[in-house]
Amino acid sequence: MSGTNLLQTRISNRRAVFNAVRSKGPITRAELAQVIGLTVPAISNIASELEEAGLIRQEGKRAGLRGQPAVELSLDPKGGYSIGLSLAYRQVSGVVVDLTGEVIRSETIEISERGPQATADALANLAKRLIAASQVPADKLWGVGCSVPGTVENGTFWYDKVQEGDDWTRFHLAETLEMLTGTRVYVENDATVAAIGERLYGIGRHTRSFFYMHFNLGIGGGLVLDGLSYRGAFGGAGEIGHMIVKPGGRLCACGSRGCLEQYVSLYAAAETICGPERTPDEVPSEEVTSALRNGDPRLAAWVAEAAQYLRIAIRNIEALFDPDTIILGGGLPQQLFDDLIAAANPLLPNLIHRHGNTQPRLMCAEHASQLPALGAAALPIALVTQMHGTTLAQPIDGSSGNAALAFLGIC
Ligand SMILES: [Zn+2]
Repeated sequence: MSGTNLLQTRISNRRAVFNAVRSKGPITRAELAQVIGLTVPAISNIASELEEAGLIRQEGKRAGLRGQPAVELSLDPKGGYSIGLSLAYRQVSGVVVDLTGEVIRSETIEISERGPQATADALANLAKRLIAASQVPADKLWGVGCSVPGTVENGTFWYDKVQEGDDWTRFHLAETLEMLTGTRVYVENDATVAAIGERLYGIGRHTRSFFYMHFNLGIGGGLVLDGLSYRGAFGGAGEIGHMIVKPGGRLCACGSRGCLEQYVSLYAAAETICGPERTPDEVPSEEVTSALRNGDPRLAAWVAEAAQYLRIAIRNIEALFDPDTIILGGGLPQQLFDDLIAAANPLLPNLIHRHGNTQPRLMCAEHASQLPALGAAALPIALVTQMHGTTLAQPIDGSSGNAALAFLGIC
């Protein structure tokens, strides 16, 4: 092998061991050897390197049947940190997580200005405040992930024609945030990001293929197939909100009629109670929750109708992808998820034999309320796991990148 090939093999082995410790730890060297298919001495070498780099640590000892007790390895939580930012309707939220995904600080702020520069400033200020307050050392910061409710191309910019007009078109959000924060920034669609968060930290740890239905005012979707996040050719895979569930139905902002989000979304729920003096987006989600809880007949009727369209969407998603399960999540009241799931059951018949799969076909996300900020924080880590092909924005001048990431072959 040439020198370059040797180095590449070494880096890919480091990543394999890092990822196995991340997903299966605490784990012994002998178990790692089995999982990865390398010899125990080879694993020991790589594990020592990762330990020296501060990425993994010895956690304890497990008594075996014979011989010395085996040392167990886990990720070192202090090995790296990342910031997750989430831009949603009228608010931005942010979290700081350690290497294991533990949230060590979070904050949500309301925003009144919706233009691109003002929004970027609010996001950057939140990131800087979180970094300062959590006292994360600069050399331990892996980067900032940012989730946005729109289409992302090459991870560098996004636009949402429907809500924002042309202001946002081709606005380079990642580059702007990198300039404002001096840190690497990865931008991705909110539903995709929520699916990545659920894959790394939630139900997705035990599930290789799932569809994540992400509720905001409307609905988006994130797709994880065989453990990998799937974006589609143009970053628009999983745009479930515009799946037509009622031909000739209500007119949608996208130009079609009968799109799912016209019936199943917070917007659609709020529409039933907003009255003539408000628009649905002016109804606080707490008001929808309390109306649901109090059995408001208008919302009870809405749940019954919405569930019928949700059942159609579920069956269509299954027909296309045959996932292990479909997960509902997003920034909605838990009551809304519970009511929708209850009303959608029994689901439409699916004749595919689900070989011993004990998971329900439809379930609620494990981290519904923390995603997508938590998922956004996972973006820098997802690069190392290679479950997501996040493209880097332009490199920052004068920055050599993070040492741990370079060690794992991400520069
Ligand atoms: Zn539509």
